[in-house]
Amino acid sequence: MMKKQMKTAFSRKNLWEKMPNSLKRGVGTVLGTIPSQYLLGGKFRRSLAFVQQADRWPADRIREYQTDQLSQMLRLAYEKTSYYRRTFDEVGFHPQDFKQLEDLRTLPTINKDTVQTHLDDMCAVSPDGGDVDMVSTGGSSGQTLQFYINAGRSAVEYAYLVAGWMRVGYRLHMPQVVLRGVEVEENRQGLRHFYDAVLRRHCYSNFHTNDENMRRYVEHMATVGPCYFHAYPSSAATLARFLDANDMRPPDNIRGILCGSENVHADDRALVEQVFGIRYYSWYGHSEKLVLASECEHSSDYHIHPTYGFFELLDDDGHPVTEPGKEGEIVGTGFINTIVPFIRYRTGDYATHVADHCSACGRHHPIISGRVTGRQSSGALVAADGTYISMTAFNVHDDTFEKVVGYQFHQSVPGRAELHVVPAVSLNEADRAHILAGATRRLQGQVDLTLKIVDEIAKTGRGKQLRVISTLANAAEMDLEAGRPELQVR
Ligand SMILES: [Zn+2]
Repeated sequence: MMKKQMKTAFSRKNLWEKMPNSLKRGVGTVLGTIPSQYLLGGKFRRSLAFVQQADRWPADRIREYQTDQLSQMLRLAYEKTSYYRRTFDEVGFHPQDFKQLEDLRTLPTINKDTVQTHLDDMCAVSPDGGDVDMVSTGGSSGQTLQFYINAGRSAVEYAYLVAGWMRVGYRLHMPQVVLRGVEVEENRQGLRHFYDAVLRRHCYSNFHTNDENMRRYVEHMATVGPCYFHAYPSSAATLARFLDANDMRPPDNIRGILCGSENVHADDRALVEQVFGIRYYSWYGHSEKLVLASECEHSSDYHIHPTYGFFELLDDDGHPVTEPGKEGEIVGTGFINTIVPFIRYRTGDYATHVADHCSACGRHHPIISGRVTGRQSSGALVAADGTYISMTAFNVHDDTFEKVVGYQFHQSVPGRAELHVVPAVSLNEADRAHILAGATRRLQGQVDLTLKIVDEIAKTGRGKQLRVISTLANAAEMDLEAGRPELQVR
């Protein structure tokens, strides 16, 4: 498939994200006094009310809702896309035959390769229309995936995230102190801090985490009043290690820790909980937006939100995993994306089946164990000043890698790295400069890059592609700290 041109609809989210931080800061002072749920818009408010209501539905109500949603999605796919019409016909399936959830199993599964190969034939509407965004995700393996999705999905997704956070005390009016992939320039005081008034977020630069910066971040965090700390699991662990090593107490105005977009490692979690002495809360999601799962008030296992998408856990033979303790692949059929229906999509993520409901909170949601594997080990780059730049933070959603099928960093000296790319088309000088500039920008200029065109990306013994091949001892450790594609909500 030829790479698509980047396409982004003029949704409110996109406009806000594209606005320079300096402008947002100006708007921020005006917006600061307006309740967040109004700033986030009607779609968000309606979604949040729905998610909170559906959260406690009995099992039969959930089944009914899912059957209805799947039925609509199957009809859309069959009637509007040539890909699904062909593959449904091949197995003798017609959407009218769909009567109960189990009927879905007669359909074949798809994966990332399917979408890459057949994207044009999988679109239910023309992607050139309004309200369509193109998502371009690096994925932690460095294999790029591009597809289209409804421009309005972020409000819906954010409602699910917020509903999850509210289980552990978060409220919309509360600020967050954030160490994630947001690019943050220095302000007049030389502090890498920026306030996003819509999301009430104090963002600090995750690309600049040497001791002096961390000390200033912590000092600033302490000034914002009761708040939640929102971070990548690896960033939260970095901050906890910094506090621990310097015998510093965490700011006592932080009420809880919200960690997502990467695998959570038990030892990191234990360290962060011990240093901060407060609840650590995480969730699982992915760029394709088919399955979203969150912890509950009492348990750190992941509860699958049943109204977000339809979740299956399948073994290697494609049979549902129903035995507690058994592992399977997360397979999702999304309810949100009506531009490109994803039906029975194998995510490449693996989780352990726990139960079909949570005995601690009583929700009738499928429960999987918090340790989701499959896309870990994407690694980190080390800047000249010692900052670890998690590859989750690097995740590029612009057109930097548009003409590239895969990429990988090779590093042996802090502050420098070789960027290997496998081109999709022949790259001219301008293309090469564009790739280098985009990657350098995403790394905030913290790593000097040189470009190398290669035929193939180096793989590990287990056949996995790592984003970073590093000979730096500590970076090898960071490999274990895992990056996973970020939920594209900030
Ligand atoms: Zn629960």
